Amino acid sequence: MAGNRRFMDEDSAHPNQDRGRRELLTGGQRPNAVVLACSDSRVPVEIVFDQGLGDLFVIRTAGEITDLSVLASLEFAVVSLGVPLVVVLGHESCGAVAAAQTALATGSMPPGFQRVLVEKVTPSLLAARSQGADTGEDFEKHHVVEIANHIVDRSPGIMERLREGLCGVVGMRYRLSDGLAEPVASYGLDIDGVPATEVH
Ligand SMILES: [Zn+2]
Repeated sequence: MAGNRRFMDEDSAHPNQDRGRRELLTGGQRPNAVVLACSDSRVPVEIVFDQGLGDLFVIRTAGEITDLSVLASLEFAVVSLGVPLVVVLGHESCGAVAAAQTALATGSMPPGFQRVLVEKVTPSLLAARSQGADTGEDFEKHHVVEIANHIVDRSPGIMERLREGLCGVVGMRYRLSDGLAEPVASYGLDIDGVPATEVH
């Protein structure tokens, strides 16, 4: 969050991008966080959090949707690399969320494999609607929360680390306009304005 603040303020430090860091990392990696983000070109993860080489383990899919490969990558980072923080990063004006909204409203699906995007985002929109959400912002935030919940529910390895206090999971929505990555959900961590969700 400090790095995101620097980026917002046009005060990025561009840390860990020199020759020394490159050479140090030939011995292995110990990233601070694993980030599952949307592939949208306007949300480059290392840039918006002002991080460098070896700092973030990044997985990106359109609409930050998950499948077995994504869950495997998350578990590799958390369980095998010991990464203590999982971040799910959605964003303002997400095309995948908009496509699912359109499909719900009109019944028209995108062609080819793109329909998978709609299939994977629609449950989040239905959950959001049932709680009275009706704006794109609401849907984007709910989708991030649903993906974070899904990761915790589906991954025994991540759940176990959460229970042991060895990792936290945070959902955030990035605002294109001012660059803020706003926390919207948290497991295992108390963040200003976002109380940690109980893990059972
Ligand atoms: Zn997106």
